[in-house]
Amino acid sequence: MSHVDLHCHSTASDGTFSPADVVRLAKKNKLSGLALTDHDTTNGLAEASAEAAQLGIDFVTGIEISAVFPYPGRMHLLGYGIDPASADLRAIISQLLEGRDDRNPRIIAKLQSLNVAISMEEVEAQARIGTSDQTGGHKPIGRPHIAAVLLKKGYVSSIKQAFDKYLAPGGLAYVDKERVSRQQIIDAIHRSGGVCVLAHPFQLHTADEVQLEKVIKEMVDLGLDGIEVLHSDHDQSWIDQCTRLADKFGLLKTGGSDFHGSNKKEIALGLAGGRTIPRQWFDALRLRISEQQGALERDGSK
Ligand code: AMP
Ligand code: ZN
Ligand code: FE
Ligand code: FE
Repeated sequence: MSHVDLHCHSTASDGTFSPADVVRLAKKNKLSGLALTDHDTTNGLAEASAEAAQLGIDFVTGIEISAVFPYPGRMHLLGYGIDPASADLRAIISQLLEGRDDRNPRIIAKLQSLNVAISMEEVEAQARIGTSDQTGGHKPIGRPHIAAVLLKKGYVSSIKQAFDKYLAPGGLAYVDKERVSRQQIIDAIHRSGGVCVLAHPFQLHTADEVQLEKVIKEMVDLGLDGIEVLHSDHDQSWIDQCTRLADKFGLLKTGGSDFHGSNKKEIALGLAGGRTIPRQWFDALRLRISEQQGALERDGSK
């Protein structure tokens, strides 16, 4: 039985392993399939894909994007099989990166007003650590990079404390981030030849299973293709709920660790809350991607 991981991050966004190192770790952990799903960027995909080909690991392109969703919930959407060159996807990525360029200095200004000595230059230098030329270009700098600087400079004693005290909603230096609508994200993923999966439904913070089902039904009507059933945040009850809803709506089931390297030390690549992710889910996902790409080609040639 071989296993896979369909959700992980590299230095192309806020992970601490380079894309090639994530793939090497996948090999070490005996995974047969991998998708790299960095936040708001496709810049790590070429490097990861080349390394996967070298090591004989099946690789699927990926991205993770935050959609508009009412607080305290968070809605993250995963795109798989996307073409990094797609104009629709590039437009969303540009919008999100501009949003980050606007937001990060505002977080820094709030920290400075709290007498925390931190500069945007320090955060940019932190974000460059471990970044190879291949993942270059406009990098999505985010709160984990700011947290790492706060930790290094001794303002906090852990990344978690940096979030709790300063960077999370309700924190002293919190600034909300740019998000796009679910419909815009789903459509861009589809038009780039990809399929769209709802990441870690736990983080929606829905009140109960009825409300969860309502949100997923809305998403199905917008074109959602799958649900992330296995994730490091999901206990057995969440796995059961997500499995039932995936089956009810005919959605793909996926799973991933949400590995971020040392930014989330407790998470191991290839394990979602201690569980492995079955290879069959990877194969079903790839089949759906090839169907989506076939449909796109038929539309294009009409
Ligand atoms: P940003 O893109 O700047 O909004 O930051 C989002 C990233 O911060 C994601 O990778 C999250 O997993 C991470 N994050 C959010 N809350 C926390 C927390 N309390 N502790 C550690 N990481 C967090
Ligand atoms: Zn992240
Ligand atoms: Fe996420
Ligand atoms: Fe993630």
